[in-house]
Amino acid sequence: MEKYIVSARKYRPSTFASVVGQTALTSTLKNAIATDRLAHAYLFCGSRGVGKTSCARVFAKTINCEHRTPDGDPCNECDSCRAFNNGSSLNIVELDAASNNGVDDIRSLVEQVQVPPTNGLYRVFIIDEVHMLSAAAFNAFLKTLEEPPSYVVFILATTEKHKIIPTILSRCQIYDFNRITIQDMVNHLEYVASQEGITAERAALGVIASKADGAMRDALSIFDQVAASSRGNITYRSTIENLNVLDSAYFSRLVDCFLASDVPGALLVYKEIRDHGFDSHAFINGLAAYIRDLMVTREESTRSLVDTDEATLKLMTDQAAKCTPTFLYQAMSLCNDADLNYRQATAKTFLVELLLIKLCQLLSPSPIFSGDGEGQLKPLQAAVQQPAMPATPQVQQPRPAAPQVQQPAPAPRASFTPAPAPATARPEARRRAATVPHTISIRNPEATLHPETASSPATSSAPRRDSAYNEKQLSAAWEAYMAANPTRHILVNTMRASHPVAAEGRAHIFTVTVENPAQQEMLEAEMPALLEHIHNALDNDFVTFEIALNQGVSSPSTWSEREIVAYMSESYPNMKKFMSELKLSLT
Ligand SMILES: [Zn+2]
Repeated sequence: MEKYIVSARKYRPSTFASVVGQTALTSTLKNAIATDRLAHAYLFCGSRGVGKTSCARVFAKTINCEHRTPDGDPCNECDSCRAFNNGSSLNIVELDAASNNGVDDIRSLVEQVQVPPTNGLYRVFIIDEVHMLSAAAFNAFLKTLEEPPSYVVFILATTEKHKIIPTILSRCQIYDFNRITIQDMVNHLEYVASQEGITAERAALGVIASKADGAMRDALSIFDQVAASSRGNITYRSTIENLNVLDSAYFSRLVDCFLASDVPGALLVYKEIRDHGFDSHAFINGLAAYIRDLMVTREESTRSLVDTDEATLKLMTDQAAKCTPTFLYQAMSLCNDADLNYRQATAKTFLVELLLIKLCQLLSPSPIFSGDGEGQLKPLQAAVQQPAMPATPQVQQPRPAAPQVQQPAPAPRASFTPAPAPATARPEARRRAATVPHTISIRNPEATLHPETASSPATSSAPRRDSAYNEKQLSAAWEAYMAANPTRHILVNTMRASHPVAAEGRAHIFTVTVENPAQQEMLEAEMPALLEHIHNALDNDFVTFEIALNQGVSSPSTWSEREIVAYMSESYPNMKKFMSELKLSLT
């Protein structure tokens, strides 16, 4: 029986040609090998998942290969290549400095350096996450790095180049790895799909690639998850649903509404988005990013700044051609203000709806809002006269009939034309702004005025429940939520792998640690429904989750305050002195 191997491991590159998205860099390396100009030490820099370690392994294999191909790639057939491929070669030694960062680890590495290769020409030492080495370990390593035996090549890899001390930097040849573009990822995923006998729509692969945020390894693991739950046929639809992605098609429809000054259309698209369980703050940021992308898509010269698949880029280019730079700039500015105001806003849905209304007014003959974010009022009359055109037929909500937009009252003009408001009159301007939606009757005005009551009992007028509970009960409620969503494989897998842990010294706050940004986003989007479930199950409305992204076993962001102090006193003599002078000690 064939063993199931996850794609991230199975499709690890075996030649330079198969390293994704780093062609310039790999050809430089191949050239150095071909002309026999090897350095003693290399430093590979770049964010996680861009191929640093894979490239280091291919490099080690290539310099030991007995019959390199004319292209400068390893043959994968000679004894040495085969030993590398099945993991039995003694000419490659890997040290993960994230978990082996002490002096003893480096000393044993230095001992191994003294042993010459039994067959093959070079021994290659890969030190991953080299910035994690302790100061003492760095010092123990420095001399060997300076004068290694002729048969040794060091490849140091790091995600945080700025943490590498200058004495190391100056001894290495430095290679900066690119973030992998969505286009490159889509091409590679398409290749993997074809090898696995999986059919996949390119648009779906584009969604997976953008979720992976530049890391091929993440893209492949998300690909595996989606492939598993869509039974070998990855469609755009199934991917969007599976990953709970806020699709750019929503934003495209919204921009169409803005261009047509179609307020009801925009509000209905937003309702659809909320009905799918998306968080409003993520929505504002997504919209802002989309409008920014339209802005740079307008110009041929800046189009390459948009990282997306070619089909989406084509659609965006067409839409951008309909937008003026002023409109896009004002729209970005309004989104930015809404983003900044979001946290303080008590009526979040209202804030977003107001934003959408402002965006719809930008191009109407007499815009209400100047778009400078101050919400200054201008005559409303012309704006309300705009007929409400449906944006696209895709909106499924029954569109309320024509009377939805009230006929403009004969002369509300006077009351809506305040003297130019000075900055201090802002609350006043806001109060006036708040009256605007009343001129557009929305099907359920209550929903607009008390938007968050449905998803979060905490903001309702009922007293917040505060029953006692223990972690076991919390855990059981967490499990029950997974059990209630058996078909949502990715959600269930994520929740299973990241049970909440009580945050030290902070009542009712629990940390949920996830492995990648995709999981983080998904869990954030799930939060309103999940919290409601947990609150009901525990009869306690105070429980809150904080989602943390796991960035390696002991990367600083996951350290406790105590660990940070310990690290600082170890690394910085002054800190140690300071602590001893004040008679401080770690407890
Ligand atoms: Zn070979």
